[in-house]
Amino acid sequence: KLQTGIVGLPNVGKSTLFNALCEQTKAEAANFPFCTIEPNIGVVTVPDSRLEVLSEIGGSSRIVPTYLEFVDIAGLVKGASRGEGLGNRFLSHIRECDAIVHVVRCFMDERVVHVAGHVHPKQDIETIDTELMLADLAMVEKRLERLRKPGSSRRSAGAGTMTSSQLAEDTERSALERVTKALDAGMPIRRSLSDCTVDERQALRRLGLLTAKPVIYAANVADSVLAAATETLAKAKMQANVWPDNESPLALVREVFEYAALEQAPVVAVSAQLESELVELPPLEREQYLESLGINDLQNIGLRALVRAAYETLGLCTFFTCGPQETRAWTIPRGTKAPQAAGVIHSDFERGFIRAETVSFVDLVKAGSLTSAREQGLVRAEGKDYVVQEGDVILFRFNV
Ligand code: GDP
Repeated sequence: KLQTGIVGLPNVGKSTLFNALCEQTKAEAANFPFCTIEPNIGVVTVPDSRLEVLSEIGGSSRIVPTYLEFVDIAGLVKGASRGEGLGNRFLSHIRECDAIVHVVRCFMDERVVHVAGHVHPKQDIETIDTELMLADLAMVEKRLERLRKPGSSRRSAGAGTMTSSQLAEDTERSALERVTKALDAGMPIRRSLSDCTVDERQALRRLGLLTAKPVIYAANVADSVLAAATETLAKAKMQANVWPDNESPLALVREVFEYAALEQAPVVAVSAQLESELVELPPLEREQYLESLGINDLQNIGLRALVRAAYETLGLCTFFTCGPQETRAWTIPRGTKAPQAAGVIHSDFERGFIRAETVSFVDLVKAGSLTSAREQGLVRAEGKDYVVQEGDVILFRFNV
């Protein structure tokens, strides 16, 4: 199970955001077997507007979205790498995650104490990154020491030939040396991963290094700024000089954007407070509230955009099954072949796989119905080497 950890300094809005994620899932997915595995782990639906379209085409009223796991990781403070706060326990939670959402406070509110006394997004991010880098450095040094010890496979095997474990050790050592340089220069490992070979990257992944994990920055803004922040972030990706002057509340979001740009990481504007209020409101009032804030399309901003960004960062994609009983989204890692995709639904489907009758979401919508898609030759019979594509609608044929 792939997990995304939510990190950030205390009082930046992590728990508010996490709770809103879980509540929203409960509210929107009546057919979804919601569960909170542990108090700090939530299963969150992945919003997908294609599901409703498909349910009309397929004639089913039951919609089952796909989901992601989020972990609320509290307790990171300055000094965590030395064991302060929840220290090591906190770090081991992050180690198990596959991606990180770093929540950064970009709202002003005198009632909410800031741990450093003032709101300064760039410094906040650096405080967290420093702790994570220190923890990584300690781990890397320990590994390197072990690799250099007598008794490592290089010493124990005879001279001359290279065994595969020696090769693996060499790869790991060169990866660790590269990474040490980055960390010594004060750079998170994720920024230098592109210099590593595929094998080196794999070796690093096995170690669970914290700053090697992909990060999505969530700029937590006041509700009144959410629309403008989202719009400006989208523009900033394409062109320079989109940020207003320093007095604007958007200046805080700009700091996050500029930090994230150093590592080509996504930034999503969210308003934890707005989201937590929304889940409490009846639908009509919700719409009025959003309208008053200039938000007309909640589907693509805030929390929902954050979940989608996590989904993409984890390298996942969605295929659909669609019939009279149920319309359902399924998650697979990008690059998964048809039989293994079938196996996500049921292991029998994978074992007895014959073919995958496949039509793209776009083609199916164009055709209007599965029958008409078949008549137009838009439904392909794909075999066991087919790589399932984002948005495929699939009917699996299998032997029992
Ligand atoms: P955590 O320590 O990062 O988990 O932070 P919490 O989610 O517990 O939030 C800390 C405090 O900040 C709480 O009192 C929240 O109500 C408040 N808070 C969270 N998000 C926002 C926000 O977007 N705007 C404002 N004004 N307050 C917020």
